[in-house]
Amino acid sequence: MSEQEASWPAQWILTRLRDAYGTSQWWPADSPLEVLVGAVLTQSVRWQNVRTAIARLKAAAPMTESALMALPRADLTACLKPTRFPNQKARRLLGLLEMITDQGRRTLAQFFATAEIDHRQALLAVNGVGAETADAILLYAGQRQAFPIDAYTRRIAARVLGKDVTDHDLRSQTLAQLPEVEALADLHGLLVIHAQRHCLSRPHCLACPLADRCHGRQQEATA
Ligand code: SF4
Repeated sequence: MSEQEASWPAQWILTRLRDAYGTSQWWPADSPLEVLVGAVLTQSVRWQNVRTAIARLKAAAPMTESALMALPRADLTACLKPTRFPNQKARRLLGLLEMITDQGRRTLAQFFATAEIDHRQALLAVNGVGAETADAILLYAGQRQAFPIDAYTRRIAARVLGKDVTDHDLRSQTLAQLPEVEALADLHGLLVIHAQRHCLSRPHCLACPLADRCHGRQQEATA
C-alpha cells in the first residue's frame, strides 16, 4: 500500500460525497447557542429526540445563555426528558454554560472572541464534554477549524483504509487537507449521510460513491 493510499483521503472523500449527495447543510440550528445545546444533548441519543428537547426548551425560555441558566432546574430537566438522561444532560449543559459565560459575565460570542482562551482545552475541561462534543461546538458554533470524529467517521475510515485509524490521526490528516471551516463542516455532515445511506453496519456497497478506493468494498467483493 502506498503512503498516499494509507492515509485518510479527506479531500477526495469530500469531493465524491458532494457529487453524490450535494452539500450537507449540517448542523441544523437557528443560532450558535442552539448548536452548543444540541451538541451536549445529542450524546448517546437519536437526533430526533434532541430536536424534541430543543423545541421544548425554546417554548420554555428564550434561547439565550442567561435565560437557559435562569430556568428552574426542574423545568430544565423536564424539557430534556426526551434525551434519556435528563439530569445528567442538565448538569452538563449548565456546567458548560457556566464556563462559556464565565458565570454569566459574557456571551458565547464573547467566549469565542477572547483570544487568550484556548477554546478546545476550555471546552474539554468541562465535565462530560469529550473531544467529539468539543470539536462540534468549535466547528459549528465557533466557526473554528475543527473536525468532530464520531462512530460514523470511524467506521467509514476503517473500511475505506482497510484498517483502524486513531482519532488523532483522522483529525490531523483531515485538518491538514481541509483548512476551510466550510469544507470541514460539510465533510462531517456528508459522512453522517453516507453512513446512513450506504455505509451502514451492513454496508450497501453497490453504487457507493467511495467504492473504487475502498478496501472494505474490495474485501467484500472477493470474500
Ligand atoms: S464501498 Fe461499502 S464499505 Fe466501502 S465506503 Fe462504500 S458502503 Fe462503505
